[in-house]
Amino acid sequence: MTLLGAKQIRELAAALDLKPSKSLGQNFVIDANICTKIVRTAQVGSDDIALEIGPGLGSLTLALLESAASVVAVEIDDRLAWQLPITVRENFDRPENLTVIHQDALTLSTLPSAPTVLVANLPYNVSVPVLLHLLENFPTLRTGVVMVQAEVADRLAGRPGTKEYGVPSVKAAWWADVKGAGAVSRSVFWPAPNVDSKLVSFTRRPTPGDEVLRKKVFTIIDAAFAQRRKMLRSALSSLYGSSAAAEAIVMKAGIDPTLRGEALEISSFCAIATAAPDIF
Ligand code: SAM
Repeated sequence: MTLLGAKQIRELAAALDLKPSKSLGQNFVIDANICTKIVRTAQVGSDDIALEIGPGLGSLTLALLESAASVVAVEIDDRLAWQLPITVRENFDRPENLTVIHQDALTLSTLPSAPTVLVANLPYNVSVPVLLHLLENFPTLRTGVVMVQAEVADRLAGRPGTKEYGVPSVKAAWWADVKGAGAVSRSVFWPAPNVDSKLVSFTRRPTPGDEVLRKKVFTIIDAAFAQRRKMLRSALSSLYGSSAAAEAIVMKAGIDPTLRGEALEISSFCAIATAAPDIF
């Protein structure tokens, strides 16, 4: 196995005449050590089927193939999806362990094998929707480590009552325990991004309810954070018809209606949804 370094990444990009696309969040890792570290942090084992979103030129893919039973890599970019099996054949002796799917990760609904672990350097502009989409659609994903923009990592792992806590934190908490897993230097990327990056790890846990409840809870979360400084009775007024109705429902859930959404755990959002089960 040869992991890719800066020289190989630049040669591959030149051979493909690849100009990294900003809109596709193409910042490629050029440091093999960080790839090894990500795979180790994710505790990928020989029984794991790893799902990688956005394999790019294959730096992380090769490190994953070294540890996992197999890797399913989903790439939106034509040239990169086409090149990846070739790169893997040239650098790894069991290339059949890789399946490349040329697709937008946001439209994924099935995969050829059930993934157990997600490991990805996610495209930054869609990192939260991609992560939530995968948690929703692939229940076999038990754990994962993703690299995202530092600010997004802080939001995903944010705790109630902090300024980082928001829609991504609460929605991710429906599916999993999410924790920060360390900062990553800008110098490990080509091109170097103009934002900092961090790793986030997650461990799935049983959801607090079924899909009917989740959809209601997510609607309440969106309303509660749409105007972050508003108290719940006012933030939820349009959802429930009036602030008096919203206040009554929030109180029925055992929650102070003068609190703001940023004070509530996922369990409190569930309590509000359950207090008025048929209202929307
Ligand atoms: N994993 C590679 C690495 O670490 O060097 C590349 C990571 S780069 C930050 C993001 C990758 O995601 C790019 O290869 C990009 O083409 C791909 N990508 C962007 N949007 C995507 C989407 N919606 N679905 C799948 N792949 C996407």
